[in-house]
Amino acid sequence: MSEIDLQKQKLVDCIRMLEQADIIDYNGHASIRIADDRMLINTGSCQRSRLTAADICTIDTEGNVLEGGGKPPLEFHLHAGIYRARADVRAVVHAHPKWSTFLTMAGHAYQPVYAQGSLVYPVPVLDSPNSINNKVMADRLAATLGDRPGAMMKSHGAVTVGKDIVEAFVLANYMEENAYRQYMALQIGKPYAFNEKELALCREKLWNETLFKRAWDHFHAKLG
Ligand SMILES: [Zn+2]
Repeated sequence: MSEIDLQKQKLVDCIRMLEQADIIDYNGHASIRIADDRMLINTGSCQRSRLTAADICTIDTEGNVLEGGGKPPLEFHLHAGIYRARADVRAVVHAHPKWSTFLTMAGHAYQPVYAQGSLVYPVPVLDSPNSINNKVMADRLAATLGDRPGAMMKSHGAVTVGKDIVEAFVLANYMEENAYRQYMALQIGKPYAFNEKELALCREKLWNETLFKRAWDHFHAKLG
C-alpha cells in the first residue's frame, strides 16, 4: 500500500470511528494535510458509517478536486484556514457533537472535569454559529483557535487539530467526553473543575503518543 493509500485508510477509519461514537453525523469531516497546499478530505455526500477510500478526495486550499471523485464538504474552508495559519497542524477533525454544543448554546464555558478532557482546556469559542463555508469565516475560526489543540463554535460544533490524524481524533473524543460529563454533573450540582496543579499533572502524564494510540485502538477494535 502506498503512503497516500495508508493515509486515506487512516482517515476512513477515523471518520467511521467518529460516526460510531456519535460524534459526527451526516455532516462531519476530517482531513489530513499531505503537502503545504493540499489535503485528503472526505466528500460531503458520503455515508460516514460505510466510508471507504473511494470517498476520500484530494483537494487544494481553494477546494479544487485534484484526485478522486465527489465534491469536498462546503466547510472545506475550515480545514484550509487552519492549515494556512498553523504549520504544525497535519490533521483536522470537525463535527457537530451534541454535548459540547449544548455547553456553547447555553453559554457554559468548558471546564476541565475529567483528566483526558483537560488536555484541550482552555477551549476558545468562536462567537458565531455560521457555517465555515468561506475564507472570512475560516480566518475568524483560525484566529479563535490560535495555537490551541481545539475550539468550539457557538451553537454549531467543535474542531480539533493534531500533528497527525490519531491526535486530532483522540482529542475530539476527549473533548466531547469531558463535555458530556460536565453537562451531566451540572444536572445534579456544580462540577468540580481541576486546579492548576492537577491540570499540569494531567498534561505531563496524559499528553502521550502511546496513550493516544491506546484510545485510537480502543475505538478501532469496535469497527470490526
Ligand atoms: Zn460545521
